[in-house]
Amino acid sequence: MYKLPKSEIEEIQRKRLRQIVKYLYENSSFYRNKLRGIDIDEIRSKEDLRKIPFTTKDDIRDNYPFGLICVDFSKIVRFHASSGTTGNPTVVAYTIQDIENWSELCKRCLEIVDVNSNDVVQIAYGYGLFTGGLGFHYGAERLGAKVIPASTGNTKRQIKLMKDLGTTVICCTPSYGLYLAEVAKEEGINPKRDLKLKAGIFGAEPWSENTRRKLEENFVENAYDIYGMSELNGPGVAMECKFKNGLHIWEDHYIVEIIDPNTGEVLEPEEKGEMVVTTLTKEAMPLLRYRTRDITILNDDPCDCGLNHARIMRILGRTDDMLKIRGVCVFPSQIEEIIMKTNGLSPHYQLVADREGVMDKLIVRVEVAEDFKTDRLTDLVNIQNKLEEELKDALGINAVIELVEPKKIPRSEGKAQRIVDLRKIRGLL
Ligand SMILES: [Zn+2]
Repeated sequence: MYKLPKSEIEEIQRKRLRQIVKYLYENSSFYRNKLRGIDIDEIRSKEDLRKIPFTTKDDIRDNYPFGLICVDFSKIVRFHASSGTTGNPTVVAYTIQDIENWSELCKRCLEIVDVNSNDVVQIAYGYGLFTGGLGFHYGAERLGAKVIPASTGNTKRQIKLMKDLGTTVICCTPSYGLYLAEVAKEEGINPKRDLKLKAGIFGAEPWSENTRRKLEENFVENAYDIYGMSELNGPGVAMECKFKNGLHIWEDHYIVEIIDPNTGEVLEPEEKGEMVVTTLTKEAMPLLRYRTRDITILNDDPCDCGLNHARIMRILGRTDDMLKIRGVCVFPSQIEEIIMKTNGLSPHYQLVADREGVMDKLIVRVEVAEDFKTDRLTDLVNIQNKLEEELKDALGINAVIELVEPKKIPRSEGKAQRIVDLRKIRGLL
């Protein structure tokens, strides 16, 4: 059904775009206002979208909780929410049809990496207001797979379940995947030998190719990246295929544009910028030109897997995760890539930004690998120097490297806290 020629996908997009703009004009006072002065009959293609102003996270928060809902309240069947650090959470409403579409997209994501009804799918994303758990749950069930709704936490039990129930697919954050592998080893289980994990589907935080390598060496046969956010349904907006070279975005349900986050100008394919998404099929709370704050690149080249849905490259980071150190923009995923290339280091790290006088300072705190044994101080100094040089070369920043003992960086069962910005805490930003 979704394995369509490009021309058909584009035809569906045009038709659905016209419908959704008309629908919003008729059913949403928020969008009627936003579309004021625009002839909605003129919005027929992706290019025409540029006439419409962006929708932002603040728009959703400012209209909290029900201001963007376009259907009669009786048609709402579910709410999800993502927590903000300040103010109102971002609340998203769903109709039965929304849940139906979302489940279908999650099913597709599993299907393109060969998950099928024989698989045992353990979902170690949070169940609750966060969309991770329930999104995968519905998708996997729709596929006919056997679902273990493990949710987050209780790491030893997760490993026991994997072993006893023969889990073949694990869904969780990449940092939790690494942690599960670590705890399994402590429990005397070698995941690659003693478990049957053919695939891991990792999302909800940006990660790197080197993390993939670690996950595939120590935990699962194949590690895949998935993308989504509650405003756009939840997980399942885009997913890597078996070729692991970008995430196919389901273009019959979403239109993607990449913009310069500072000027709002639409960029050419292959240019790095903020992803802006228009939802084509959402019913309760469709969004036009929603600024995701995620930084990526759009690639519309044909993929070897035969799917004609365009791909987004791995998310580099979020515009709000971006650390600005002495004017240079740095994403944790870029630093992670370098840490993982350096021998003797573990994938567990934290970035601490601070200011001394007027100068920004970046501390990269990283654990020494557990299997790295030395009693010579010079070995450690060499690692420190190497990492320092690599960071300088690749990112153009001077960082202070702090090597710490294994297991000194706090572990998280959900998203890892990679950044501690003391400048913010001290009110300097
Ligand atoms: Zn593909």
